[in-house]
Amino acid sequence: MSTYVFGHTNPDSDSIVGAIALSYLKNKLGEDTIPTRQGKISPETEFILNKFNGTLPELKTSYAGEDVYILDFSDKAQAPEDISEATIVGIIDHHKLGDLTTNTPLECWIRPVGCSNTIIKEMFDYHEVEIPKDIAGMMLCAILSDTVIFKSPTCTKMDTKICKQLAETAGIEDYKALGMEMFIVKSEVQGASPRDLTTRDYKKFDMGSVKVGVGQLEVVDLSVFDNMKEDLFADLKELKKDDNLHTCMLLLTDIMTEGSQVLVVSDDASKIEKAFDIKLENDQVWLPGVLSRKKQIIPFLQPQF
Ligand code: MG
Ligand code: MG
Ligand code: MG
Repeated sequence: MSTYVFGHTNPDSDSIVGAIALSYLKNKLGEDTIPTRQGKISPETEFILNKFNGTLPELKTSYAGEDVYILDFSDKAQAPEDISEATIVGIIDHHKLGDLTTNTPLECWIRPVGCSNTIIKEMFDYHEVEIPKDIAGMMLCAILSDTVIFKSPTCTKMDTKICKQLAETAGIEDYKALGMEMFIVKSEVQGASPRDLTTRDYKKFDMGSVKVGVGQLEVVDLSVFDNMKEDLFADLKELKKDDNLHTCMLLLTDIMTEGSQVLVVSDDASKIEKAFDIKLENDQVWLPGVLSRKKQIIPFLQPQF
């Protein structure tokens, strides 16, 4: 029986590349694993797979009765619906510890670094397995994406050090330029539907007795959203209903000026105002310096619920 390897719902590049890289490592170590994904990939991930001849992991959303490695999450709200009927044999993650539990012993690699692929690189080193050139290139991109080319407060010395090593293996000299090329692809929002945008990088969290959804779009120039705000707000209202949320937020993150315009649809917006000590205007606020959902948004929201 194969073991499946996958990341969170609405998979980002870390989740997709991590599944590919971790599955490769595990297979080298004699296990039988298959990388999978829980949903559609983003244009950024497509760029990475094309650039480094990556194979798109197969779509699989049900895992009852299966053994699984999960990566880049440990929250039930970001897991397949039948995760409680699967056996989690390992967790590789760099987020807050979530609410998934297991009945059996498991392998755990959880650390506060900028990207799951940073941890996976350390796993390769620990097991003394060489990383193929193309996989190294993909892992490099995943780390550049998650750390916003090292600008995110989640980025650590380990992330920058490992990027250097992966770039060497992949034969890439100017990897910051590669990161910018990737973020320009990521900034392409024209032609995408509002729902595609609100859910492109969207995560749900159980907070007390309610659910909160937080999406994020990282772009090189916020003006791409100038004519889109109304449509985005309309969709956030729908999304809030569809997912039965107390609050639905969308971070429009400008990676060049380094900050986020936050759009809020909430049953009680005063909770958001309190969390960040701000006043919303037209259900929006600019949060200077805010780049990271996991470090600068979720920890402040959680205590309000
Ligand atoms: Mg992720
Ligand atoms: Mg990640
Ligand atoms: Mg991210």
